[in-house]
Amino acid sequence: MLSVIIPAYNEEGNVERTAAAVGKVMAENNIDHEIVFVNDGSADKTWEKMTALAKADSRITAVNFSRNFGKESAIFAGLETAAGDCAVLLDCDLQFPVETVVEMYRIWEKGGVDIVEGRKKSRGRENPVYKGFSLLFYKLISKSGGLDMKDASDFKLMDRCVIDALNRMPERLTFFRAMSGWVGFRTEKVWFEVADREIGTSKWRPSQLVKFAVNNITSFTSAPLQLVTVFGVITFLVSLILGVNTLYNKFFGNSEAGFPTVIILQLLTSSIIMFSLGIIGYYIAKIYEEIKQRPRYIIKDIVCRREDKDKNGK
Ligand code: UDP
Ligand code: MG
Repeated sequence: MLSVIIPAYNEEGNVERTAAAVGKVMAENNIDHEIVFVNDGSADKTWEKMTALAKADSRITAVNFSRNFGKESAIFAGLETAAGDCAVLLDCDLQFPVETVVEMYRIWEKGGVDIVEGRKKSRGRENPVYKGFSLLFYKLISKSGGLDMKDASDFKLMDRCVIDALNRMPERLTFFRAMSGWVGFRTEKVWFEVADREIGTSKWRPSQLVKFAVNNITSFTSAPLQLVTVFGVITFLVSLILGVNTLYNKFFGNSEAGFPTVIILQLLTSSIIMFSLGIIGYYIAKIYEEIKQRPRYIIKDIVCRREDKDKNGK
């Protein structure tokens, strides 16, 4: 059985449409499936729509968060709840084509492949500044994590062994896109075209994207910490050169007042120190958040009519 995990935040206009689209395509292709909806603390009627669907159809399970925990948490709640032999992640706005899920499923079904990952053929309509930054972000994550994250998305089909591996990862701050690469396993790619969102709006604001990038970089790689060392080496080299120069001038009697140099050096070193402290502070904040061991999410209610055919005992 295939579990289709759908995180949703304020998607009242999309829930029914998406469930119908998934149901139709799966029926046409004879794929045994379930849908796991995760309501990420929506403020609209998303949960009401989900419960109605889950009550009417035993193949649909609806999970309700106590507040908005973010898509990452919703993904992991979905993986925890999924009972399938494999699971795929789908956005509620149908930006990931359901037909590609069939293609992914067929590849998995043949065996030998544990992860079928969807790669974006093109990034859709996007602002060039945003595009540039996202390229830089993925470069950094890819390089430091030894992963290939170019054109990566959350659109992935995973075998049960991958789902179990991800469920066993204990960290609180998760980055699914990178973690599902980090776990390894045999991976195959399929390419898909990102569709435009028809109903509702994207939940991303520019400030959130910056937060997303900083958060994920600091939770996934320690590369910025090495930057602090690099700064140290650079300032040390500069101070060597300037130091020799200053001593030379002093002993040969042509040392000047040199106040501008002092001021510039002061400004330069103090900003480098504060910048470095900021980077270190970010990592300490991450440690602080992890060490509290709070759950990734809190589930308020679940509507599930799954029969006892469930082999995973959930
Ligand atoms: N989403 C979520 N929690 C959030 C924000 C988004 O579960 O806090 C869901 C949203 O309902 C959708 C998916 O994540 O199913 C992708 O969100 P969106 O379409 O806003 O992102 P984009 O496609 O623009 O990257
Ligand atoms: Mg979207």
